[in-house]
Amino acid sequence: MATITLPEAEVKETKTQETKKASTGTKYVYFFGGGKADGDGKMKDVLGGKGAGLAEMTNAGLPVPPGFTIQTEACREYMRGALSKDVDTQMDAALARLEALQGQKLGAGENPLLVSVRSGAKFSMPGMMDTILNLGLNDKSVEALAKRSNNPRFAADSYRRLIQMFGNVVLDIEKAAFDEVFDAKKKQKKAKMDTDLDAKALQEVIAEYKKVVKKHAKRDFPQDPHEQLVMARDAVFRSWQNDRAKHYRRINNIDDMLGTAVNVQCMVFGNLGETSGTGVGFTRNPATGVKEFYGEFLMNAQGEDVVAGIRTPVHISELEKIMPDVYNQLRDITTRLEKHYRDMQDFEFTIQEGKLYMLQTRNGKRTGLAAVRVALQMVEEGLITKEDAIFRVDPNQLYDFLVPRLDEKKTKIEVLATGLPASPGAAVGQIVFTADEAVKKAGTGTKKNPVILVRAETTPEDIQGMEVAAGILTSRGGMTSHAAVVTRGMGKCCVAGAGDIAVDEKKREMRVKGQTFEEGDWLSLDGTTGRVIKGKLDTIPPKADDPELLQFMSWAEPFRKMKVRANADIPRDAIQARAFGAEGIGLCRTEHMFFGEEKIPHMRAMILADNEKDRRAALKKLLPMQREDFAGVFKAMDGLPVTIRTLDPPLHEFLPRREELMVDIALLPKYSAKQKKELVAKYKDYGVKGVNDLKKILPGLLARVEELHEFNPMLGHRGCRLGITYPEITEMQARAIFEAAVDVSKKGVKVLPEVMIPLVATLKEMQNQAAIVRRVADEVFKEKGTKIDYMVGTMIELPRAALVADQIAKEAEFFSFGTNDLTQTTFGFSRDDVNKILPTYLAEGILKQDPFAALDQEGVGQLVKMATERGRKTRSNLKVGICGEHGGEPSSVEFCYRTGLNYVSCSPFRVLTARLAAAQAAASESLKVEGGRTK
Ligand code: PEP
Ligand code: MG
Repeated sequence: MATITLPEAEVKETKTQETKKASTGTKYVYFFGGGKADGDGKMKDVLGGKGAGLAEMTNAGLPVPPGFTIQTEACREYMRGALSKDVDTQMDAALARLEALQGQKLGAGENPLLVSVRSGAKFSMPGMMDTILNLGLNDKSVEALAKRSNNPRFAADSYRRLIQMFGNVVLDIEKAAFDEVFDAKKKQKKAKMDTDLDAKALQEVIAEYKKVVKKHAKRDFPQDPHEQLVMARDAVFRSWQNDRAKHYRRINNIDDMLGTAVNVQCMVFGNLGETSGTGVGFTRNPATGVKEFYGEFLMNAQGEDVVAGIRTPVHISELEKIMPDVYNQLRDITTRLEKHYRDMQDFEFTIQEGKLYMLQTRNGKRTGLAAVRVALQMVEEGLITKEDAIFRVDPNQLYDFLVPRLDEKKTKIEVLATGLPASPGAAVGQIVFTADEAVKKAGTGTKKNPVILVRAETTPEDIQGMEVAAGILTSRGGMTSHAAVVTRGMGKCCVAGAGDIAVDEKKREMRVKGQTFEEGDWLSLDGTTGRVIKGKLDTIPPKADDPELLQFMSWAEPFRKMKVRANADIPRDAIQARAFGAEGIGLCRTEHMFFGEEKIPHMRAMILADNEKDRRAALKKLLPMQREDFAGVFKAMDGLPVTIRTLDPPLHEFLPRREELMVDIALLPKYSAKQKKELVAKYKDYGVKGVNDLKKILPGLLARVEELHEFNPMLGHRGCRLGITYPEITEMQARAIFEAAVDVSKKGVKVLPEVMIPLVATLKEMQNQAAIVRRVADEVFKEKGTKIDYMVGTMIELPRAALVADQIAKEAEFFSFGTNDLTQTTFGFSRDDVNKILPTYLAEGILKQDPFAALDQEGVGQLVKMATERGRKTRSNLKVGICGEHGGEPSSVEFCYRTGLNYVSCSPFRVLTARLAAAQAAASESLKVEGGRTK
């Protein structure tokens, strides 16, 4: 059989090359082929990751099908609606050069040149943008291809794929319109598999496809190969702006303005028969990091079949048996590539009639476990230095070490199926079958509901659903299928290719082992072993003392200058945080301590009291309980500072909802005895002991709720305003703190209490509360005959506090930025309601990121910087930290380091992430390197 893309002819200098220098001087098109490339591997900004890789591989003498890359500036011009004419001129010149090199003409002659047109941005965005294969085929060239390949079926199949891809990507026709035609044909011919359709059937499909194009696009499928090329190129530019690409960039923090390059490359075919094939692989295992040649391939298939997970491929070791020479060559090449790039490679290859072609190589995405292990191995192998290794792990990925495992001891488990362990960890949730359903059911904030997205295979359109799901299960596809790659990037549990499971997305059911599961049924996934388990299992928290993790952190940690603390309210969380390396508690929210079953009635009694005497009586009951809580936290953090915040939230949060209460009062006379009994239980914390109490107590309760009702509680009676209007609350809390501190210190525990006053806007507020704290401290020390060092400081969470930070620092011995509230009050966004507008803001590019997740450095950051500077002008040794959610987000941690903060404080599970982010920030400064993380 003839080879379709002929071995490269000698590089011929052609006239067209002279036109390369464009009138604007910009070089838009970079050629690669014939052993040489215009660009190189460093030019990712210009050529995109894929283009730079192709240039580098070509220069290294590897077997790469030749072609050219249209650089990212062209995409940016296209987005601005100002594509230079030079792009066309240079593209035509490069095409002519390619034709000369190959001795072929695009879509013409007896041996037509066919090309692929692919996107390729600076950072890999798997499957987010578009690709067109087999470009150059038309009614005539398909016949030439059939003759030349002596395989009419292959030719027709290639052509129908082109029309389908072109129709979908370039002409915007729904995939379903083509699928319908194809499925109908399969049914008509009683074909089980796509490959069961013969050449004649495929020609009929082509005729139908053309009608689909005409009907939906109101034009014919373009027969002119050059027109196809221009249209495909522009469609790839446009795909930079499609919804899934935009969404992917947002969650991966990739700049919208980068644009994509377009790679036009000679086609090689993996579907030319039994000596052809295509595959993808990694130089090390991307899930575990184990050093093993890892990959999958399919004989007689085209690349998209593997990536899209349509057919389940076989392990790469099989290739050694089928084609030992090709296997050895592939091993040799990929080993060289890994050494060259000094990082684990993710590569794509095609074998066309026994000849190996490399289509792509890039630094491979990996789980956190693999990232740490590969970094350690590479240092040992002498490929990278310890300093390089620090940057090889994205701080967020350390979360993988903290992912839970399934608790299998408590219940007898039923394994329904075993798929591929595509992304580690465990996920337990209710089944949903579509991405939309996942978004609807998963909920947000406190109303989160774990869902497992079950699909035959995922596609890039599922990205939003995948993001909200607790775990993903697919019945088709391999370790490099879309589901596997994307979930690994997200650090989310995934079991892929569980072939025993039949997923019927239309009927919304899944069948396995003779059982049918519907939407809402519970499922447990083990992404580390690939098991799919029936029902709702418990999960066990992981251990953070993995020896490889500890070794990795021992390299990063010496660079770190900023401390990392945790936000924790109860001893259990404090112990957990300490195990993860927390160096103190940066925020203990005391209100969380009041929700315990035995405390809440007293808390409610305190709130319902309409006079100081009753309030003090209730507070007296709370005092010993608070003292015990604080003692527990102090003990857990022996020797480390503990920041305790006085009561912050508006009091109505502890009371029943006003509307509910009104309904209960109104309906009380009509309620049955049973309903009344239920009401007694409901209101027992408010002093209701029997049915007769309902009538007496509920109206009074409503009156108090009405009194406390606020139109804008977030800006209302909360924070230090509570302690100022009810000083006895601050008194009780201060007493509990100092009594606990003295008690445990007498038992040998080293306590370093820091009392923190929330929501301060003025110096006077601070002075008012600090005076109470200090007075109570003196009283307790006197009573107990012991003194303890402590500090009184404030949160900076209002713009006014930042503005007058120099004044506040006269009284406050430390600052802690409450960036949740500071973001709320700086933007004027309600932190509880922002989700109504945020999706639109992000989609429209009005905001690049959720400012409640990543600190808005430009705006809120200015206040942080200014307050730190002003505070330290007054008090040069002012200790400054952050305890908003941002304290565990890597870019915000880096900002805090640059701003000179002493510590960041975050939730226990983000402590490791914050430690690495802080170490990287300091290391990149002292090593003068730009954090070279693998994106
Ligand atoms: C903050 O506002 O950032 C903060 C830590 O306090 P809370 O989230 O409890 O309001
Ligand atoms: Mg706050």
